[in-house]
Amino acid sequence: MICTGCSCLCNDVVVNGTRIMNACIKGYRHIAGAKENRSEAKIENRTVSIDEAIEKAIEILKNSRNPIIFGLDTTTLEAQSLAIRLAEKLECYIDDNSSFCLGEIVEAIIKKDVPSTTLDDVRNKAYVVIYWGANPYTSLPRHMSKFTYYPRGEKRPRGYEEDRYLVVVDVRKSETAMLAKKNAKFLKVEKDDELVDSFLLAVDGKAGKFGSEVGVILKEMKKSDFNVLFAGLGLKYGISNMDRFFEMIKKINEKVAPLYLLPAGFHANMRGFNETLFEKTGFVNKYSFREKRSEKEFEFMELLKKECVDAALIVGTDPLKSLPFEIAKKFMKIKKIVIDPKTSLTSKVADVVIPSAISGVECGGKMVRSDGVRFKLEPLEEKEINDVLIFKKILEGV
Ligand code: SF4
Repeated sequence: MICTGCSCLCNDVVVNGTRIMNACIKGYRHIAGAKENRSEAKIENRTVSIDEAIEKAIEILKNSRNPIIFGLDTTTLEAQSLAIRLAEKLECYIDDNSSFCLGEIVEAIIKKDVPSTTLDDVRNKAYVVIYWGANPYTSLPRHMSKFTYYPRGEKRPRGYEEDRYLVVVDVRKSETAMLAKKNAKFLKVEKDDELVDSFLLAVDGKAGKFGSEVGVILKEMKKSDFNVLFAGLGLKYGISNMDRFFEMIKKINEKVAPLYLLPAGFHANMRGFNETLFEKTGFVNKYSFREKRSEKEFEFMELLKKECVDAALIVGTDPLKSLPFEIAKKFMKIKKIVIDPKTSLTSKVADVVIPSAISGVECGGKMVRSDGVRFKLEPLEEKEINDVLIFKKILEGV
């Protein structure tokens, strides 16, 4: 089966009875723990039938002046398409976790503003592999062994022993940074902008703050016609000017050696949401179907902060767990509908909870890996109630 535990979408996981092979511990828990902590259909904490919960959700959405649909990164492309249709019908906001994660990076890649590649090509060809603000050891556990540093590839038959050069950029010595020992470099930065500046200066033959380290990395890049940089959440929050970062990628490509950019985000189908919304609207996230545009002020957090929404349909995510306290208080004031296979902090305070199936384990469909490659899921079973069915019913009802 294809594991949907993170955006690696590992397609070599084998399940034989209670035995789960090839999955990492995160994937194992995702699959073996599928039946734990399940949500139940509820209206104001009262157990109801699924149809009653869906009816109540329809009523809330119909009576709302400014609803938002938020989440969707762990569901299938088919469910995401229906959610976008629902947002269009309601003329409401739609957003996902990528607006405060790696949406900007994915948008630049989709628009072909920066060169990108596939994880399969990384495995086969990549020499310098840079993780910048990413800690795949915990967030994407098989990323390094399946695609980047450790595996042997067509043009990299000796793997990390001789055919790869790993660079880890982070504010602390993360677990991934601790692996940067053989043919590798760990660069501790306090201000990511300074490292971007150093690269930009170095390609023009000048020295910046990280002049000697950057010089070594660029020299390694020149040895190959295929290098890759994985951007993580730390990079997104560490860099104040993303355009300058993109300029750095372009300049390295022009003047040094080919360098491809890929997101190291962790939600299984976040890129799928970005691509699906982009196909429909030309934008990857934080979109208003009423205003027909995407703006920073349409981000889920911004809308809550400014009290611009009166109802939220939350799909497969748990925003209450990470919202700042003042914004969480505002979130508590609006109507909340949660569609989720699992109980979460958000589902515990929701007005309506609609239980669903775990995409990839209990229902099929398609997902997009973080590099843009599409996969057809191979679930262990097909549950009748899944996100697609729930969205179809809500769409009919509104
Ligand atoms: S790396 Fe991700 S997709 Fe692969 S087995 Fe682990 S959790 Fe599943």
